[in-house]
Amino acid sequence: MPQTTKDTPMMQQYLAIKKDYQDAFLFYRIGDFYELFNDDAIKGSQILELTLTARNKSAQDPIPMCGVPHHAAQNYIDILIDKGYKVAICEQVEDPKLAQGMVKREVIQLITPGTMMDQNATTAKQNNYLTALTRFDAIYALAYSDLTTGEVRTTTLHTFNEVVNEVLNLNTKEVVVDEKVSSEERQQLQTLGLMISENKKISDSSEFHFVAQKTKRPGELAVLKILVNYLLSTQKRSLSHLQQAESYEIDQYLRMNHSAKSNLELFESLRTGKREGTLLWLLDKTKTAMGGRLLKQWLNRPLLNEAQLNQRQEVVATLIDHYFERVTLQQALQKVYDLERLAGRIAFGSANGRDLIQLFNSLSQIPTIKSVLQGLPEPTLQKIGRDLDELADIRDLIDAAINEETPVSITDGNVIKTGFNAQLDQYRSAMTDGQSWLAQMEADERKATGISTLKVGYNRVFGYYIEVTNANKKLVPTDRYQRKQTLTNAERYITPELKDRESLILQAREKSTELEYQLFVEVRDQIKDQTGRIQDLAKQIATLDVLQGFAVLSEAGRYVRPELSTKSQDIELINGRHPVVEKVLPANTYIPNSVIMKADTNILLITGPNMSGKSTYMRQLGLIVIMAQVGCFVPAESAKLPIFDQIFTRIGAADDLISGESTFMVEMKEANDALLNGTSHSLLLFDELGRGTATYDGIALADAIIEYIHDHLGAKTLFSTHYHELTQLSERLEKLENVHVGATEENGKLIFLHQVLPGPADKSYGIHVAKLAGLPSQVTKHAAQVLHVLEADGNELVNEDLPLTEQLPLFTIADKPAPEKQAPPQIPTEVQTLIDQIKTTNLLQLTP
Ligand code: ADP
Repeated sequence: MPQTTKDTPMMQQYLAIKKDYQDAFLFYRIGDFYELFNDDAIKGSQILELTLTARNKSAQDPIPMCGVPHHAAQNYIDILIDKGYKVAICEQVEDPKLAQGMVKREVIQLITPGTMMDQNATTAKQNNYLTALTRFDAIYALAYSDLTTGEVRTTTLHTFNEVVNEVLNLNTKEVVVDEKVSSEERQQLQTLGLMISENKKISDSSEFHFVAQKTKRPGELAVLKILVNYLLSTQKRSLSHLQQAESYEIDQYLRMNHSAKSNLELFESLRTGKREGTLLWLLDKTKTAMGGRLLKQWLNRPLLNEAQLNQRQEVVATLIDHYFERVTLQQALQKVYDLERLAGRIAFGSANGRDLIQLFNSLSQIPTIKSVLQGLPEPTLQKIGRDLDELADIRDLIDAAINEETPVSITDGNVIKTGFNAQLDQYRSAMTDGQSWLAQMEADERKATGISTLKVGYNRVFGYYIEVTNANKKLVPTDRYQRKQTLTNAERYITPELKDRESLILQAREKSTELEYQLFVEVRDQIKDQTGRIQDLAKQIATLDVLQGFAVLSEAGRYVRPELSTKSQDIELINGRHPVVEKVLPANTYIPNSVIMKADTNILLITGPNMSGKSTYMRQLGLIVIMAQVGCFVPAESAKLPIFDQIFTRIGAADDLISGESTFMVEMKEANDALLNGTSHSLLLFDELGRGTATYDGIALADAIIEYIHDHLGAKTLFSTHYHELTQLSERLEKLENVHVGATEENGKLIFLHQVLPGPADKSYGIHVAKLAGLPSQVTKHAAQVLHVLEADGNELVNEDLPLTEQLPLFTIADKPAPEKQAPPQIPTEVQTLIDQIKTTNLLQLTP
C-alpha cells in the first residue's frame, strides 16, 4: 500500500501532539517557520490573512497548510489571542543536526487570553487577569492573577451575581473552572464574552505552596490550586514570580456593582467606550505603568477605612506643599520602567539584555527618590523613603555584567561586558588578535606578491579568503595560493595558514557567543532569586506614583481636602464641581453647585428641564465621593463627607439599548438591588427612575420607591424626576427636600442656569428642549398647541383616584386593576400625527 501523506513520520508526530491541543491553534515549528495544518491552517489562513497551501500538493491527499516565520510569530499570536483563541507553541526540542530520525518536538507553552505575557504600549497600564472559580459548600471561591506581574488575590462570594460582578469588574478575559461550576453558570459567563477553560488534573507544586502561604479558608485554597495548576500546565515552566495570595472581602471596600461603575464612567465612556472622558482618564497623572495599574485598582475598590484615607490625604497634602521635591520625584519616576513586569519577565525567563538595562536604569533612580522622601516632613513618606530597597546588589551586578548597548537577541553575542568574565575576555582577545593578524597578513602578502590591491576578506560560505583582481592574477604565487572561488572580475584564494587562523577565530567567536548566553542566563537567574525584593520595590513606587499624581491634579484643579467621617452621615459639599465635565467645558464656565444633606435630609428630589444639569449634579456627587474614598482631593470649595459603604445608581439609558433588556427591566433590577442591599450608609443616585414605563406606573413606582428609601433605608439619595407630581411628597416625607435646576425663558427661548436652587421647578420645558434639539418648528409649534389644549382641559396627568399619599406596596402595582380614567380629550388627527412623530424621535441620538 502506498504511503499516504498522513502516514509520514512528521505528520504522525504532528497529529499525536495536536490530539492534546484540540481547542488551540498548534504552531508547529519546522526550521525557521511555524506551520499550521488541516483545520488550523484553513481557519488560521482566513483570520491571519495567510496564503493557504498544501503539504504534498501532488499527492492524493494533500494536507492544508500555512505558516508564519518564527521571528514574526508574535504578531500573529497576538491577533489570535485577541480574537479569543488559544495558541500552542510546539518547538523542536533537540538540535536537528544531532537528531536521529525525526526531530523531537514538544509544546513548550500554551498561550491563552488570560495568560498573555507579551505586553505592548497600549496594555502597559492595564492588568490582564486570569480568574479561577469553584464552588465550596454553598459559596463560590474566586481567585485571580496577572501572570505578567505575579499578583494573586482570592475571595469568597455568596451569589453567582456577585461572581459575575467581580469578573466584570476585573475585566478578566478567561475563567478557569472545575466540575463544580455548572454548565448554566459556565454558559452565563460565556455570554459575557469570557473564555471558559477547564482545569483537568490537579497536581501539587511548590508554586502553590508558596502562593497559598497566607490563605486559610478551604474554598480559597481549592480555587488557588486550580489557578496555579492551570498557569503551570499552560506555561510549562517554574513561575517563581507568583506572589503570595492576598485574601479580600468585597465589603471591605466601597461597593459598586459593574453597572454603577459603568454609569459613572469610571473607566469607559458610555458614549465612546474609550478611556477619554472618564474618571480614570482625569485622575491618571502617574508617571509609571505600575502607578497607572494601581490607580485603576484603587478606583475599582475605594477604601472604607478612615485612618488609611487620612494617611493618603496627608501624603497628598505634603506633596502639594513641596513643589520642588515633587518635581524631583516626578523626574525620577519618569525614568523608572515597569519593575513589576520586568520582574515577571526575568522570572519567566523571557527577559533579554535590554530588559536588564531597563532594570538598571530604573534602580539608578531609587537613591534620588529615597533622599527626597526622607527629607519631607511627613511620617508615611519618610517611612517609604527609609524602607525603599535600592537593590544595590542587583544594580551593581547588571552594571558589571551587561553591555549598555546590548542587542535584542541574547544568542548573538555583545550582551556581556568585557572584564566580567576572564574566559570570555580570552575568546574576545583571540578574536581581536585574529583581526590584527589578518591585517598584518594582508600587508605582508601585498609586499610579497607586489599586488597593491590584494585584499583579505570574509564571507559565510567560504570563510576567510585572499582576493586578487583579474588584472593581477598572473602575479599570484600558485605554489602557496589555492584557488577557491571565481568572480567576474576577481579570483579568491586561500592558504593553509589562513585556514588555520580562520578556525581559531571562528571557534573563539562561537565559544564566546555560547559563553555569553550562558553568562547572561546566570546573571538573570541571580536576579530572579531576588524577584520578591523587586516586587516590593515596585509596589512602593506604584503607591508613591499614584499619590504624587493626586497631588499634581489636586493642585492644578484647585481641589480641596475633604473632611471624612464615619460617625456623621452629613454631606456638606460647598460649590462642588463635576471634575470631568468641568475639564471638558471651556475654562470657568462650569457652574458650581452645593449638596447639603444633614441629618434632617436624606433625599433630594431634583426637578428641572431636560439638559439643565440634573444628571451632572448627581454624577458630580458620585464622583466626588469616589475621589474622596481613594484618597484624592475633590473639586469643591469645601467638603464634609461621610464614608459611604456602597453606591447604587440608575443613570442614563443609552447602555440599556445594547444589553437587550428593556430600559424598564434594567431600571427595576437596579432599584431592587439598591433597596435590598443598601444601608443607611449608602449613596443612591436615581436619575428619572420610572420613565421606562407608562406615566401612571412610573409615578406610582417612583413614589413607592422614594417612600421605601425614606422610611426603611435612610440612605442618602439624589432622585431626579420630570414627574412634577412627586414634588408634593415633601409635604409628607420630612427628610425629603425639593431642589430644582434653574432655567429662565428669554424671548421664548430657554436659558439654562445650571444652578441648583431650593424648591421644586414650576414648569416643564420639554418643548423648549425639543426646539433646542433642532426639531422642525412645525413640530414644536403643534406640540405647544397640544399642550395648550391639554392644560386648558385641566387634564393633568395626575390620577385623582390614586392619591400619592397612599402607601403603595412595592412592585405589586401591576396586580391592581388600572383605575378608571377620565375620557381623554379629542385630539385632532394632524396633532396626533405630530405626537406620533415626536414619540418616534430618539432624543438620545440628537445633539443639542
Ligand atoms: P439633565 O440631566 O438635566 O438632562 P445633564 O446633566 O445631562 O442634564 O446636563 C446637560 C448638559 O449641561 C451637560 O452636558 C453639560 O454640558 C451642561 N451642564 C450641566 N451642569 C452644568 C454646570 N453645573 N455648569 C455648566 N454646564 C453644565
